[in-house]
Amino acid sequence: MPAGNPNESKRTRTDRPRLRYAPSPTGDPHVGNIRQAVWSWLHAKRYGGDFIVRLEDTDQSRAQEGADKRILDSLRWLGVEWDEGPDIGGKYGPYIQSQRLDLYHDHIATLLKNNAARRCFCSPDRLTEIREEQQANKLPPGIRDCCDISPEDANTRAAAGEPHVVRFKTPREGTTVATDLLRGDISFENSTLDDFVLLKSDGFPTYHLAHVVDDHAMDITLVTRGEEWISSLPRHALLFDAFGYDRPEYAHASVIRAPGGGKLSKRDGAKSVLEYAEEGYLPETLLNFLCLTGWGHGDQTLFSRDDLLSLFDMGDITLASATFDHEKLAWLNGTYIRALEEDIFASSLRRRLELDLPVDVPRPLDDALIESIAPLIQERITLMTDAVSLVDFFWQSQIDTPPPEDFLTKKWRDRGREASATLAQVSARLNDLTDASWTTPEIEQLLRNLAEELGLKAGELLSLVRTAVTGKRISPPLFESMEIVGKGLVVERIIAASSALS
Ligand code: GLU
Repeated sequence: MPAGNPNESKRTRTDRPRLRYAPSPTGDPHVGNIRQAVWSWLHAKRYGGDFIVRLEDTDQSRAQEGADKRILDSLRWLGVEWDEGPDIGGKYGPYIQSQRLDLYHDHIATLLKNNAARRCFCSPDRLTEIREEQQANKLPPGIRDCCDISPEDANTRAAAGEPHVVRFKTPREGTTVATDLLRGDISFENSTLDDFVLLKSDGFPTYHLAHVVDDHAMDITLVTRGEEWISSLPRHALLFDAFGYDRPEYAHASVIRAPGGGKLSKRDGAKSVLEYAEEGYLPETLLNFLCLTGWGHGDQTLFSRDDLLSLFDMGDITLASATFDHEKLAWLNGTYIRALEEDIFASSLRRRLELDLPVDVPRPLDDALIESIAPLIQERITLMTDAVSLVDFFWQSQIDTPPPEDFLTKKWRDRGREASATLAQVSARLNDLTDASWTTPEIEQLLRNLAEELGLKAGELLSLVRTAVTGKRISPPLFESMEIVGKGLVVERIIAASSALS
């Protein structure tokens, strides 16, 4: 047990925690949603338990084609592994709610038999009328006594195929107390609750019913989800009680806020994990970042996957809303990029460049070339997507020399001719280097000597050469780059720049 965690034994109720991530396949899950998955996985693994993925697809109208695959891809990309799930099955399967309808119908039958639920045949107009009345009388919203039909009549009408829903018969009096790991006991007056729908007229269960049935059937011990579910918690508690099932523990996490304090919009960072992948973030970064957004361990900022697996406890997540910190995200990514083993960085670079280099560059990219370029930029980029604009010149057959006024350092501005003459000298000198001498130190020596000879500052000469060879103001280290580009091409580029500037 970690230090400073006195309540831990209270928190981990069972010997074998089972936590689940239960996304609805209605789109790509954004980072806040995936954070719950990551936390559930870490907590389960830390305490030797299971992590389960269950697809909650009972709202058929909102289902989005391919979303299930992208949800699993997001987890895989982050390195989150599940023990049971829609793709791998498991002994509590199936893990897709639309394949478990019989189970929900059995539960509905039980509740109807016990008079804990009722069929409701109210038309949408009737429900609107009730809501308007409640509003006018300043009564709490929510459908309660909407239709008074005997169970026998209701069954007859249902058997005749009349469309209807099934509602829970919520007690009108008393208090429902539900416990949250982070917030303690929360009390809800039953008089403020409604007869919520359990089974929709399309025969599909609502979230309320399906997840309660499944969390029980799958032996889930701890549920973590966003705080927006707290208002529904008494419904779920009442349902567990109505079935005579033990309730799981709950930890409702605070939402991630935008830097200004408001709701996190897409622009502020509420993007999907796969979008971050496309933008050049590393999985290590996102994993570390998501965990740190709402959880911490002392003042440590860098957490490897193994650190997280051995340190994370759901009881330690903070109640205060965490802010999405872009600077930290970028800083973490640069840090993780620099920390990558050279060969791992080289293979990430190859994958990235194969996506980002122009289509006319032949794939696959040459391994030896990638391996020689990688160390030149590993320290210089924050995102993997920064790479292409730094290194594309290695693959260009021709460098477009920009006009002196918008490219060259001050020294050469409006002095195209002088620049051109200088480059002509550079190309002649470089051309005299033998192939064996085409090495970083000899190129450097040559150019520094030449600058002195010409009465130029080294930087003035080098900026000119950099422009000619790379087409950029900022590039990877110049001498190393020249060595890699090779003598023939370097000389050719410098001659081309010289004539463009004349
Ligand atoms: N399907 C629900 C959602 O995606 C799950 C909420 C929960 O974790 O209970 O919001």
